[in-house]
Amino acid sequence: MQKLTLGLSDLGMRLTSSQVEQFETYYRELVEWNGRMNLTSITDYGEVQIKHFLDSLTVTLALTEEEMSKTHLSIIDIGTGAGFPGLPLKIFLSQPRLVLLDSTAKKAAFLRHVVEKLKLVNVEIVTGRAEEAAHSPRYREQFDLVVSRAVAELSALVELALPFCRIGGTFVAQKKGKISPEVDRAGRAIDVLGGRLEQVKQIALPGMSDERYLIVVKKVGPTPDKYPRRSGIPQRRAIQEESQRESSPGELRKQS
Ligand code: SAH
Repeated sequence: MQKLTLGLSDLGMRLTSSQVEQFETYYRELVEWNGRMNLTSITDYGEVQIKHFLDSLTVTLALTEEEMSKTHLSIIDIGTGAGFPGLPLKIFLSQPRLVLLDSTAKKAAFLRHVVEKLKLVNVEIVTGRAEEAAHSPRYREQFDLVVSRAVAELSALVELALPFCRIGGTFVAQKKGKISPEVDRAGRAIDVLGGRLEQVKQIALPGMSDERYLIVVKKVGPTPDKYPRRSGIPQRRAIQEESQRESSPGELRKQS
């Protein structure tokens, strides 16, 4: 795990030897299970360290000291896939409660296996859609930290994620590519859902020239009960677009 430990030390972070061992085991299981089911296209030892493990841990760069050291921090990862970024965060941070949510049952089988192998406690694996889980009192507005990587366009993603966040908590989305139009399009959705955009932080990974960002949204007020809407609607009809559709072309002409 030299690439991971070097990359982390550049960011001012260190792993204990048992954490290094846990990442080693995670890597082995990921590659082994990947032969049976499609979990990731990244399987090279060096690449997994950077593009999965280190990339997941960059989420901590958006956290305050208080969040980092909180002993009972609760985290939910929306659309976790093979556990990113949730599981690396669980290995790294001190004993958070972690919920891994994904709509695919096959992924849950892998996650269950890995969590057992890594002897992690206080991890719950939930198979289901965010649109439904977010209406359950067990999960709604229950988390200090909501994370999500590579799941949906931001204007839809905030509807899937912010309902899980407690007021005062934080949502961190990991995103690649041209981000500012995407952030603009999500502005109205963030407001409507009780969020406030806190920062857009660019992340550089060793040897990677692509543009990576953390979109950090604070939850400042409650999410209205109607959100998230039915499965698939947040992606098909993001809150911003809906409001555009509400104003008819006639109205727009009158205004101009
Ligand atoms: N976060 C992981 C996986 C990204 S792929 C990573 O970065 O590697 C997107 C994942 O989100 C898939 O596993 C898919 O099953 C899940 N997903 C997509 N929409 C979802 C929804 N509405 N609710 C729950 N999971 C969802």
